[in-house]
Amino acid sequence: MPEQSNPANAFTPPTWWRFAVCRKADLRTFFPRHYDGPTALAAKQICTGCPVRTACLEEALRVERDTKSRRHGVFGGMLPEERHQEWRRRTRDRRKRARAVRGTP
Ligand code: SF4
Repeated sequence: MPEQSNPANAFTPPTWWRFAVCRKADLRTFFPRHYDGPTALAAKQICTGCPVRTACLEEALRVERDTKSRRHGVFGGMLPEERHQEWRRRTRDRRKRARAVRGTP
């Protein structure tokens, strides 16, 4: 099988990943068993100081939208449920703006 046909070989990390604070952290922190425990809170606190937090969150939201699924883990300082709420909020805002442009209530 040619190497390029293997999807695992096709993954290229985004450039912002070089600056991710979690690269130096224990990644298990970002994939806690329970999202209401101290491990998830610790991950969120690490994300707070991450310079690529916005890019990370956008990437997570994009992947979740494209795959129509929720990823396990803390990304962009948000838990899966928080990202889902953010995605819903953005969808509502987009629809509201579209209605305003069309002039419909
Ligand atoms: S925002 Fe959090 S999960 Fe995303 S790259 Fe930064 S530290 Fe890692």
